[in-house]
Amino acid sequence: MAWYPGATRYELQPESDDQPAIRPTQFIVHSIIAPWTAKRTYEYWRDSTNLESHFGLGYEGDLGQFIGTETRADANYQANRRPDGTGAVSIETASNLQGSDPWTAAQVEELIKLGVWLHQRHGIPLRICRTHDDPGFGYHRLHSAWAVSGTSCPGDARVKQFKELVFPGIVGRAAGPFTPPEQEDDMTPEERKLLTDTAAAVKRIEAALAQKPWTYKGKGDPRDMHQVVKDIDATVRSFKSAGLTPAQIDTLVDKLGDSLAARLAN
Ligand SMILES: [Zn+2]
Repeated sequence: MAWYPGATRYELQPESDDQPAIRPTQFIVHSIIAPWTAKRTYEYWRDSTNLESHFGLGYEGDLGQFIGTETRADANYQANRRPDGTGAVSIETASNLQGSDPWTAAQVEELIKLGVWLHQRHGIPLRICRTHDDPGFGYHRLHSAWAVSGTSCPGDARVKQFKELVFPGIVGRAAGPFTPPEQEDDMTPEERKLLTDTAAAVKRIEAALAQKPWTYKGKGDPRDMHQVVKDIDATVRSFKSAGLTPAQIDTLVDKLGDSLAARLAN
């Protein structure tokens, strides 16, 4: 049982005690087709149905948690709990009655913060789920196995926000800012400047990747990746031409690799 410290706890019983454990590997976002607060969503799950999500998010950013993230919740059909014991963490978010409005800024912010926590707490990888059982982040309509009979949830406007704001926000914040290695005693001002410039270059690469991670289609896709590889190559060459020691180059390449691994290898 894991409870997110950033949410108000509205525990659903008997579901919280009775439903089986999961190992959370996915985060799936929904629109609830009602302009409800987190508390109102809790009351709906409690009083009107035996379905439920793990979290509920109101327009004002009020976030409630109804079930621990290591317990099954029933919002995403086959992703709730798979035969291997893995499952999805789900959130229902307040929307208009058509499910057509975008998330408010407060909702976007809370989705990002919760996504970062799920990555850190449960190791959910920083990628968009490539298949219905692939660990990562997604929205309800992304995979048909997640809905009993098809769904448009969470709506076009929010799918766009998920791709352009929420998921890149999670990736960017989970990775943390790139900082140059500690200054070494024998480092010249020129070397120091190169390290600082390199940190700036890495930030530019990270920003480019965070903006359009979903455009990468795998090996052979020239979009973004071509420029990224060229940037990396130029950066490593600049280390050598500046006369950095092998240890300094190793440190930089490790940092660069760690930063990019979160976006590419995952
Ligand atoms: Zn949904």
